[in-house]
Amino acid sequence: MQPGKRLSDKVAIVTGGASGIGAETARAFALHGARVVLADSDASLGKAVAREIETAGGTALFRALDVCQEPQWIALIDETERHFGRLDVLANIAGISGRDPTQNIQLTQTAGPRLAEQTLAQWEQVMRVNATGVFLGTKYAIAPLQRARGGSIINISSICGIVGSFGNAAYHASKGAVRIFSKAAAIQYAPDRIRVNSIHPGFVDTPMTRPGHANPDVAKKRLEATPLGRFGTPADIAMGCLYLASDEASWVTGSELVIDGGMTAN
Ligand code: NAP
Repeated sequence: MQPGKRLSDKVAIVTGGASGIGAETARAFALHGARVVLADSDASLGKAVAREIETAGGTALFRALDVCQEPQWIALIDETERHFGRLDVLANIAGISGRDPTQNIQLTQTAGPRLAEQTLAQWEQVMRVNATGVFLGTKYAIAPLQRARGGSIINISSICGIVGSFGNAAYHASKGAVRIFSKAAAIQYAPDRIRVNSIHPGFVDTPMTRPGHANPDVAKKRLEATPLGRFGTPADIAMGCLYLASDEASWVTGSELVIDGGMTAN
């Protein structure tokens, strides 16, 4: 490992790499020597982040991916191995809140509808992206990580995967699924030295949460519930991803890393 390069020679796929936590994680991985494939449904933003990483001297490429589409995962993993010769790290970061995308300001304390108003289609969409997407990525990363004789899968859950709240049950359910799926996968593939961990962010300032925090009542309530008194930054979470991706975490699997400004300690 070169000094200061915690991911030298590693090849990483980062889903959700076009925006927020995923983009910052891709930047951190590249800064620490990884060759990074950014995968996201937003091609124009994703290409811009990849260009920015390359301009800064890193190695990155963007590939369009809908995490719900199995053939696209197969193609992405295959292309990554052909292009870079291996895969060492998969960060499953893409996700959705279930918020109505036409709402620029969240009117209530919760992003998604309450249970009685939740349609089956909305429920299934949140579960498909947040939970099935993580299953598919993990499933297709196993073989290349076995060929690399081990590696790291990082699944972004949420504090909503640990505790409940009065709203957005589909999001809670999807993130709870990611938490426990990660532990099951960790146990199944520990003999192959494939580590699988989940990260549980609190409220982080990204395009996902901005409509909520544009409502001063929502922002105030969330800040009051955060002992460290500020929203997280994408870098706060990216640093956790960097640790779990690196060999410094070689004895860490099946764990849940909470990065939430102290919110769930309360
Ligand atoms: P973000 O800025 O909205 O980034 C999410 C990215 O995922 C977007 O680029 C989005 O593209 C992409 N995406 C959505 N559906 C996709 C799909 N089907 N296939 C591929 N890409 C897809 O949100 P973020 O806050 O960085 O969230 C990243 C992860 O952290 C999510 O899993 C989220 O649930 C989790 N998280 C966030 C917070 C927080 O406070 N921000 C807290 C806890 C957990 P589009 O814009 O085109 O949809």
